[in-house]
Amino acid sequence: MRDAPFAAASRLTGLGTSIFTEMSALAERTGSINLGQGFPDEDGPPEVLRAAIEAIEAGHNQYAPLPGVPPLREAIAAHQRSRYGLEHEDVQVTFGATEAISAGLLGLCDPGDEVIALDPFYDSYRAGAAFAGARLVGVPLQPPKWRFDPAGLAAAVTERTRMLLLNTPHNPTGRVLDRTELEAIAAVCVKHDLVAISDEVYEHLVFDGEHVPLATLPGMAERTLTVSSIGKTFSVTGWKTGWACGPAELVAALRGAKQFMTFAGGTPLQHAAAAALAIAEEHGARLAAELEAKRDRLCDGLERAGAEVLRPAGTYFVNADVRPLGYDDGVVFCRELPERAGVVAIPTSVFCADPGRVRSLVRFAFCKREAVIDEAAARLGRLRCPT
Ligand code: PMP
Ligand code: GLN
Repeated sequence: MRDAPFAAASRLTGLGTSIFTEMSALAERTGSINLGQGFPDEDGPPEVLRAAIEAIEAGHNQYAPLPGVPPLREAIAAHQRSRYGLEHEDVQVTFGATEAISAGLLGLCDPGDEVIALDPFYDSYRAGAAFAGARLVGVPLQPPKWRFDPAGLAAAVTERTRMLLLNTPHNPTGRVLDRTELEAIAAVCVKHDLVAISDEVYEHLVFDGEHVPLATLPGMAERTLTVSSIGKTFSVTGWKTGWACGPAELVAALRGAKQFMTFAGGTPLQHAAAAALAIAEEHGARLAAELEAKRDRLCDGLERAGAEVLRPAGTYFVNADVRPLGYDDGVVFCRELPERAGVVAIPTSVFCADPGRVRSLVRFAFCKREAVIDEAAARLGRLRCPT
């Protein structure tokens, strides 16, 4: 026996259990309302669900071509063209945005490379960078406005920097970066010849401002992989059907990794995703309006409960400072919340390289039915004045 037969496994598990897995299990165990992991509690549009069933019945059940089924690749290209005026050289379908990001990191980064990301960052980024032997370097978004310091961004670049991994609209903060901020990011990428992966999974879920894809900025189309998926736009997070599009050379690098990760599958869902994208504009606008109302409902409820709300401009998530509820530490708050109030939420600090920076903040998901939001808010309201 080798001394450490599972060294590789422990290196990876050293990355920790996904916070989402952990918190959803906690919600299940305690029968709590789950405002932790971001997934809607209602299904996507019936015509999209039907398209998946019809695709199975039509016999779309074997391996897809590696780049994805032609109708979906065409629908993605059409979506990017009509919505943003972007003409991508190539499109690769993936198992959700998650695979696009991991495969992009694997295909484009060498061991020892550095990848800059806004901090807090979505949890798979650090793991994806680690798979590639690369290191994630955070540029802080400062609460309560969640803005970054452009000088701090410029200073984060070293000789080892290979990539900028952007996310807007941003999880977990709900920020939608504005054009001035994106120009600062683009300037750094161009100056230092960095490639970019831009994770835009919440592109349709914007309430204030507008979503500007990084690839639309001058000098960026030729160096950016734009990543998205249908999970959020169509309330089908379990479908895990996403894509990356951009310059042929960058897509080829991602595809090279992806082909040996999963090859190509989810064929019927790829066909259904093509049908979904045909109604993305109308459906996305309707969903954003619904979610905006839900955002306001949860923000009001949190405020009534006494928390200090950092109102988001997009996504599924709102952050709140729980100090007025008697907690300095969001981790302790989230640990006690299921027992005390029957609600699960996620401490924002788990998304940060330096947890102390946002210690008293907690992320709540509002992609839930109104009655569920109201019940969660009522339960949180009882925290301050227990009956
Ligand atoms: N990026 C961000 C910022 C996310 O919040 C999520 C969450 N679900 C993903 C990527 C993953 O997307 P998918 O489910 O399509 O893999
Ligand atoms: N994106 C979802 C969130 O941020 C969770 C996705 C996951 O479970 N990995 O809550």
